[in-house]
Amino acid sequence: MASDADDVVDHRPLIVAGSGIAGLSAAIYAGRSNNDPLVFEGDEPGGQLTLTTEVDNYPGFPEGISGPELVQNMKQQAERFGAEIKNGIIERVDGAERPFTVELANGDVYTADAVIAASGASARTLGVPGEDELMGYGLSTCATCDGAFFRDEKILVVGGGDAAMEEASFLTKFASTVYLVHRREEFRAEDYWIDRVMEQVDDGEIEIMRNTELTEIHGSKADGVDHVTLVENPEGHPTDKLDDPDTEEFDFDVGAVFYAIGHTPNTSYLEGTGVDLDDEGYLDTQGGEGGGQTATDVPGIFGAGDVVDHHYQQAATAGGMGVKAALDADDYLEELERSGQAETSGEVATAESD
Ligand SMILES: Cc1cc2nc3c(=O)[nH]c(=O)nc-3n(C[C@H](O)[C@H](O)[C@H](O)COP(=O)(O)OP(=O)(O)OC[C@H]3O[C@@H](n4cnc5c(N)ncnc54)[C@H](O)[C@@H]3O)c2cc1C
Repeated sequence: MASDADDVVDHRPLIVAGSGIAGLSAAIYAGRSNNDPLVFEGDEPGGQLTLTTEVDNYPGFPEGISGPELVQNMKQQAERFGAEIKNGIIERVDGAERPFTVELANGDVYTADAVIAASGASARTLGVPGEDELMGYGLSTCATCDGAFFRDEKILVVGGGDAAMEEASFLTKFASTVYLVHRREEFRAEDYWIDRVMEQVDDGEIEIMRNTELTEIHGSKADGVDHVTLVENPEGHPTDKLDDPDTEEFDFDVGAVFYAIGHTPNTSYLEGTGVDLDDEGYLDTQGGEGGGQTATDVPGIFGAGDVVDHHYQQAATAGGMGVKAALDADDYLEELERSGQAETSGEVATAESD
């Protein structure tokens, strides 16, 4: 997509996709480096931390801090250094020409010399009743983050892959019992994790509910999760067999529910850049040309936070990576300026055009 200069709302040295912890950390540093960053918030302003009431493990807050408050503080800090934070979902970045063309879902077009992708990874959910109301109030998608809030409670974990096994195993530190709900008979996790969970089943710490699916979560914001509704069929995938006489529906008391059914990295807007993704769709940053650890294989595009990192996925690590991306982008922009290429258009040999 070549943009007509008349259609461009604004040109910036740096555009940041996402106002989660990674994007805002990048914006603080980029503002202080005089890179005049423009941050687009996407459809979840403030990112995943706005879904949680209490963040107890972000360094610097001995009594903990609410997710929305932490994000708000970071926004103010970024704005203090000149960052502009705007509503807007980036629909497409074009890397065929420089500067990059950044098109929003509302049709507005911007250009930028560099782009930091800090667009996170969305935890997959089931879409069952009770989910929206109780997310952050007894329902969570992050055991490392929220497990400690449910000491001595019965905890239900949904999933059958490595992540579910790991989360179930981790949650035994806190739970009275962990119930691992899986819709099939067989798990698709690695043998290592299955063996480890089976040891904890033998020890009475984990109970497995095979061929079972969650269909509703009951509770309130005030009191958290009270119980769930489950369906079970001996042949598996019970929600596909609700009319089968062998399908049994029952209520089950639990104090918390954790989803561990995977994440989807938010990268679709980068398709037109030809940037490399790994097998699971996460952005590949390899410390490419120009140095630094957040450079992608497309010069000028940097990645930070959960959209890159499928291992740690923590606020502090995402923030750290946002800082690195801003510093790497600053090096890139300085080099661009030295070589006289900033704010110039033209074919870029290394990027693909569609
Ligand atoms: C319920 C819950 C509780 C958690 N609790 C903790 C905790 O206590 N401690 C901890 O360390 N971590 C916690 N985490 C994990 C932590 O929230 C994430 O690791 C962190 O938010 C990742 O930051 P990020 O900036 O990479 O991505 P995100 O927070 O996911 O932010 C991504 C941003 O990108 C935007 N975006 C997406 N697509 C586009 C687009 N096309 N255009 C523009 N913008 C876009 C989104 O709107 C959002 O603003 C929790 C996560 C959840 C879900």
